[in-house]
Amino acid sequence: MNIVIFLGPPASGKGTQAARFSEAHGFLHFDMGKALREEAAGSSPLAEEIRSYTNAGRLVPNEVVQRLIQLMFAANQERDIILDGFPRSMEQVELLERVMEEAGRNLTAAVLVNLPEDDIAERILNRRVCPQCGRVYNLVTMPPRSDEMCDDDGSVLEHRADDTEEVLNERLAVYSEQTQPIIDHYESAGLLTRVDGAADVDDVSRQIEKVVFGA
Ligand SMILES: [Zn+2]
Repeated sequence: MNIVIFLGPPASGKGTQAARFSEAHGFLHFDMGKALREEAAGSSPLAEEIRSYTNAGRLVPNEVVQRLIQLMFAANQERDIILDGFPRSMEQVELLERVMEEAGRNLTAAVLVNLPEDDIAERILNRRVCPQCGRVYNLVTMPPRSDEMCDDDGSVLEHRADDTEEVLNERLAVYSEQTQPIIDHYESAGLLTRVDGAADVDDVSRQIEKVVFGA
């Protein structure tokens, strides 16, 4: 049974690739952000604890993250798993290693969906979103048929307030500070493979299949 970590900067397509891969190959797509939101919305013992942090605008501590990961492994002993949005720090890397050892599982690979900073900026700064249906466009790579209007419903597309160069630079700085040690860690363990996130979506998917299943 495989465990594959997906890493990548903002706008790299990491989340899209994780969703495609899990659907095509029957992996569980464990998206940490989504898992926390879903757990918090329920009535489990962890729900109230998670809400006590998120309602106060605080990060959920690693001991709660650890319990969530333990529950996920316990419920999916016979499944291949993709980890998306986790681990996010070296503490979480260590936590994951402890939990995998308890569960008798091993990491298959860490896939880094790589994208140069210029490409990230181009994707984010040219991104436009339909306020009506949520469809996402890119004025350069995936433009609407007519000027800044949604193909599906004709609404005027919007530029998200946080899709600016300033916010982007801040996000990239945080990403590289958090993620570089994780990349270095898996690289020195011989588990890291970089794929070219600038390639088209299908090509990126094929690159990832090669990493996980071999050539
Ligand atoms: Zn629309």
